Amino acid sequence: MSKKYNIIVVGAGHAGCEAALACARIGIETLVITLNVDSIAKMSCNPAIGGIAKGQMVREIDAMGGEMGLITDYAGLQFKMLNSSRGPAVWSPRAQCDKGLYSILMSKSLQNQKNLDILQSEVTTLLVKNKKIYGVKILTGEIINANMVIIATGTFLNGMIHIGKINFEGGRFNEKQASYLSKCLIGDCGLILERFKTTTTPRVNAASIDYSKMFEQLGDDKPHPFSHFTVIEKWRKNLKQLPCWLTYTNSITHEIVSDNLDSSSIGIGEVNSKSPRYCPAIEEKIQRYPQKKSHHIFVEPEGYNTNEIYLNGLYTGLSFDLQQKMINSITGLENAKVIRYGYAIEYDYSNPLQIKNTLETKNIENLFLCGQINGTTGYEEAASQGFVAGVNACFKFLEKEPLVFKRNQSYIGVLIDDITTKGVDEPYRMFTSRAEYRLSVRNDNADLRLMDIGHSIGLISDELYKKFKLYKKLLINICEGDVINLFVDEELSPWSIEKAKNEIYIHEKYKGYIEIQSKMANKIKKNEDKKIPKNFEYNKLDSLSAETRQRFSKMRPQTIGQASRLHAINPSDIAVLMIYLEKNKKER
Ligand SMILES: Cc1cc2nc3c(=O)[nH]c(=O)nc-3n(C[C@H](O)[C@H](O)[C@H](O)COP(=O)(O)OP(=O)(O)OC[C@H]3O[C@@H](n4cnc5c(N)ncnc54)[C@H](O)[C@@H]3O)c2cc1C
Repeated sequence: MSKKYNIIVVGAGHAGCEAALACARIGIETLVITLNVDSIAKMSCNPAIGGIAKGQMVREIDAMGGEMGLITDYAGLQFKMLNSSRGPAVWSPRAQCDKGLYSILMSKSLQNQKNLDILQSEVTTLLVKNKKIYGVKILTGEIINANMVIIATGTFLNGMIHIGKINFEGGRFNEKQASYLSKCLIGDCGLILERFKTTTTPRVNAASIDYSKMFEQLGDDKPHPFSHFTVIEKWRKNLKQLPCWLTYTNSITHEIVSDNLDSSSIGIGEVNSKSPRYCPAIEEKIQRYPQKKSHHIFVEPEGYNTNEIYLNGLYTGLSFDLQQKMINSITGLENAKVIRYGYAIEYDYSNPLQIKNTLETKNIENLFLCGQINGTTGYEEAASQGFVAGVNACFKFLEKEPLVFKRNQSYIGVLIDDITTKGVDEPYRMFTSRAEYRLSVRNDNADLRLMDIGHSIGLISDELYKKFKLYKKLLINICEGDVINLFVDEELSPWSIEKAKNEIYIHEKYKGYIEIQSKMANKIKKNEDKKIPKNFEYNKLDSLSAETRQRFSKMRPQTIGQASRLHAINPSDIAVLMIYLEKNKKER
């Protein structure tokens, strides 16, 4: 192969797919190289997209012309608006997906995309001269030149799989690890790589489950699609939702786990690296919360055409026989047969302090990193970074100003700012509490916040943008009490008069709170240099989580600015700290 590409994307997972599509759609000749084309956009863990804060990110990617939302609408088998009993500011869409269909639809998008080539191979070496990248070498020894390279290699770099006492190399179960690239990232690119780990649950056969003993969990009656461009009524008509189920662990399950911690790859610390705190293995949960007598297990289908069922909540590194025993101790799963065992995986990641807010590495020019390689976890976090890396690699190539997202504009802005300024010391996942402007960066208004950007970068077509502008005009008319009968839904579709009215209702409802929120954010900025007394007793701050109190006590920041930059500290924690500091001052 002698062709030179403008951009090469390494890896076609969730980050790589968004990156490659963004580049090609902007009009740049792009090649995506991936280990196995049959596992493009494979969902390594739960085939679910969205959820708290993650759903907002998918809406943001979609508002700018990304792919994840659209694919989810057509691969989803159950849709739920999480937090719908609370205010719309925290509503988060989530969809359980058909994993096979998701992967097929994303592969097709890539295959049909103009300016985009796909190659199945392993990238072994990055070609660097004078601290600038100029191409890659693949396993066969061929060299492919490129102006920009985006690395999106997920959990594959030196991936090591653990099941009980057994361990073996692999990037995912039954897929080979990428064993060369880490050496090159360290040696030729001067990056420091560290190790994280994550676990997944066993999958069981639906035919062996007794659903009559479980609680049925249905999707929403009036489901909401992820994509702004999905025409709701038509989509709802064709959607066939499947039920999920709920059951619980019990004292016998807990006993099996506790008695066998020494034979788990998690319990005995055979896998020493850090795992995602908020997706703990069942071994970790039982040790961490000994007072809890049971934990939820959501029993979720993995597709329309498979019997495989995902046991959400049963992440584990136990041995094969113990996994089976543990599962059979759970109500409804007494006779359940395992199809795939759960496992833990350790892998190399690069601390994101080594990249800029465009996701280009600080060390090597034109080399971008996105997704799990930056120490994050989750499909949505990966896709968001893929989109940002793709657009910025194009802009660098085209010599345009970079696209940097602000924290008050999007969750994507919060994600990139957090990881590139604070780094990570455990796998980073998004939460609403990380976003100080969460009342304004809602799932309902992602289009109003970001679609202008999507159009300006060339990822939203003129035709759709025209309709969006009409919708914005309608919003103004409603606010000003003008006639709205000048607008008809057909002309506005996929937007609608109903959506406009709802948008204004939400905006009005939150107006006051949004002002308070923005005052608080400004106050934190202004108090950057405010001193924290040396012996300040963080343990007394009971409105902070135990983890946050521990972190403050350990790090003992000297100023509010330092405290706000600590890893895993959220703006809401700083707001609480400031209130206590004021109180402390008055008391003294
Ligand atoms: C066992 C397991 C459990 C998980 N559990 C959770 C969880 O509980 N919660 C959660 O949020 N997330 C979990 N995840 C993580 C989730 O799968 C990732 O966050 C997400 O897939 C990351 O997307 P990505 O695009 O960065 O990488 P991936 O989706 O892993 O894709 C990486 C791609 O790079 C390709 N590749 C790698 N190296 C090379 C190379 N040298 N040359 C060419 N191609 C290469 C691979 O073939 C693959 O296509 C889990 C992952 C695994 C494996």
